[in-house]
Amino acid sequence: MKLLSYRKLLLFVALFFASVTIAQKQPYVLLVSFDGFRWDYLNRNITPNLEEVITNGVRASSLRPVYPSKTFPNHLSIITGMHAENHGIIFNKFEDISDGEIYQLSDSSAVRNPKWYKGEAFWTTAENNNITTASFFWPGSELNDKNRRPTYYKKYGHNLPYRERIDGVMNWLQLPQSERPHFITLYFHDTDSYGHEFGPNSPEINQSIQRLDTLVGYLNNKLSKIGMKDSLNIVFVSDHGMTEINSDRTINVEKILAGLDYKLGGSRPLAMIEPNTNDYDSVYSRLKGSQDHFKVYTKENMPEYYFFNKNENIYSLLLVADLGWSIVDDKQILNMSKYDSKGNHGFENNNIDMHGIFVGVGPNFKEGFKTGSLWNIDIYPLLCKIFSIAPNPNIDGKAERIEYLLK
Ligand code: AMP
Ligand code: ZN
Ligand code: ZN
Repeated sequence: MKLLSYRKLLLFVALFFASVTIAQKQPYVLLVSFDGFRWDYLNRNITPNLEEVITNGVRASSLRPVYPSKTFPNHLSIITGMHAENHGIIFNKFEDISDGEIYQLSDSSAVRNPKWYKGEAFWTTAENNNITTASFFWPGSELNDKNRRPTYYKKYGHNLPYRERIDGVMNWLQLPQSERPHFITLYFHDTDSYGHEFGPNSPEINQSIQRLDTLVGYLNNKLSKIGMKDSLNIVFVSDHGMTEINSDRTINVEKILAGLDYKLGGSRPLAMIEPNTNDYDSVYSRLKGSQDHFKVYTKENMPEYYFFNKNENIYSLLLVADLGWSIVDDKQILNMSKYDSKGNHGFENNNIDMHGIFVGVGPNFKEGFKTGSLWNIDIYPLLCKIFSIAPNPNIDGKAERIEYLLK
């Protein structure tokens, strides 16, 4: 009896050490998002820390967002490998047409409701493969379902100081081996906020870029201090770019459709319109006839590369503003100075102004390697390659378009 328990204890100890060894062998990846960091911000000679990272790792010319080039759709595309029509987060704000419920990023109970999210986030794929994950902010990381969020996560705090976010990640990376996360996300809104307010060519955006670059230096120092600099892979991405807009370049959709009955959704670079059945033909022909600085598409004739029609919450008609133009309603025209901003995104995703960055560094990445534009839906399969785990089979991304970045 005593001998048996002794054997059991030995077996337990052996299993424990085996699982710790497996955990130790798993790679480490930190995925950092700089919201609205346009591809060319890296070429302004004001990012010495990121330049050092690029010298030691890989850099893509740009990162192509999915349509629409908005924050939530794209963070979800990066983390699920799916186009917006498939992961379900089609805008920052939209309606469930079956019950009228609204999803919007400012409503934390909507943002945490799992019903909206149709894709599988990488943290779920990883956790299903016994990889511990963590998130210091990422859209979709706070779901009210513990099987669909990282082991460690934080409720979004827009004003939480940036260094505290990095310190939080450092604390996770110093947990005992058996509890330590191997995949972590980190998010900063700075370049998006300043890009909107001052535009992508302003002194203020350059200060914002420098602020984020300084944070990269802070992150690297902290990693050296805890001895993780050589074992951690870091991927810096952004969800989209930014382009200059101004209040003269507006299209008042309510003026075009005066007297007709329809529902309006979307936001300035795009609008979704659901005409009342009786008015469908009039709405469509009026929009078709006044396509000045915007295009109108039906769900059926939309460009295929938008991958933006196979979703019931997308309305029947889509209005796409030309780069730099804004689709507005009467109320916004009246309050124009209130809505005045110098930059925006959400435009056609082929437009280079909408492209973000991709920089990868660490033991799994090639060194000093440059590549052309990448698609952000390919990042999920890249992460699966790094961790040697099988991706969710329903993704739109493709490993073969990106895996050559790895050693
Ligand atoms: P937009 O420029 O409208 O596409 O959205 C950018 C804004 O999204 C940022 O300024 C943040 O306030 C917000 N945001 C980013 N991540 C989150 C999150 N995880 N939860 C709630 N809001 C977020
Ligand atoms: Zn964004
Ligand atoms: Zn933005």
